[in-house]
Amino acid sequence: MTNSTVPAVKLAGVMKRFGNFAALSDVNLDIAAGEKVVICGPSGSGKSTLIRCINHIEQHDGGEISVNGIRLDRSAASVAKVRSVTGMVFQNFNLFPHMTVLENCTLAPRSTLKLSRAKAEAQAMELLSKVRIGDQARKYPGQLSGGQQQRAAIARSLCMQPKIMLFDEPTSALDPEMVKEVLETMKALAGEGMTMICVTHEMGFAREVADRVVFMDRGSIMEQGRPDAFFSNPHTDRARQFLSQII
Ligand code: ADP
Ligand code: MG
Repeated sequence: MTNSTVPAVKLAGVMKRFGNFAALSDVNLDIAAGEKVVICGPSGSGKSTLIRCINHIEQHDGGEISVNGIRLDRSAASVAKVRSVTGMVFQNFNLFPHMTVLENCTLAPRSTLKLSRAKAEAQAMELLSKVRIGDQARKYPGQLSGGQQQRAAIARSLCMQPKIMLFDEPTSALDPEMVKEVLETMKALAGEGMTMICVTHEMGFAREVADRVVFMDRGSIMEQGRPDAFFSNPHTDRARQFLSQII
């Protein structure tokens, strides 16, 4: 199921409604293993809803979603399998405030992956060092800067050994001077071959890292393409208008 011919993520005709409002309408998207996709678009266009449907934080109401060949069919088993291969990083870090950074990084590996405390801690320290906050492991999230907290959240996600990482505006809540350190961490991860789907308006990151940029508006994918093509020659008026506002 994990061979390279199986898409990492496949959405076919995906619909998501909140009441009568269509947050996603007929979304089709295939993402290959190892691919880096940046999703952009105006506020309210359905970007978060799309990536939240991929790991079933939101439940789609129509169409099909498969992750690593596992079809999300509403069964608890399919949801658990999909979550076991996906990691997610949120705008507001979502670290557990009453636990140290190290405990944040070892909780799920111990309870879900059944790693011993020693193994879970060794893995956590390795990943925290990799995101360059090994020296912060014994601190509580509130004692860290925003950039350090977000890097801790990335390390915590990686401790679950995901195949696909989902990022929902990971730098939007950060002070400008901390954006770079988080983007550097994400670039390093991209360089290791991780499949990444990033909702972000960091167009420098998109140009440098993305294989593909997907532009959404009003619950639909309006256009997609390689970053250079999308940025220099967007096809739709809406994308042109969007880019003129953010660049
Ligand atoms: P984006 O991430 O692109 O800003 P979202 O995916 O968060 O957009 O939201 C898309 C639309 O769906 C917005 O109009 C938003 O108000 C609506 N929406 C999102 N989540 C909910 C919810 N839980 N209940 C009702 N409406 C929602
Ligand atoms: Mg959003």
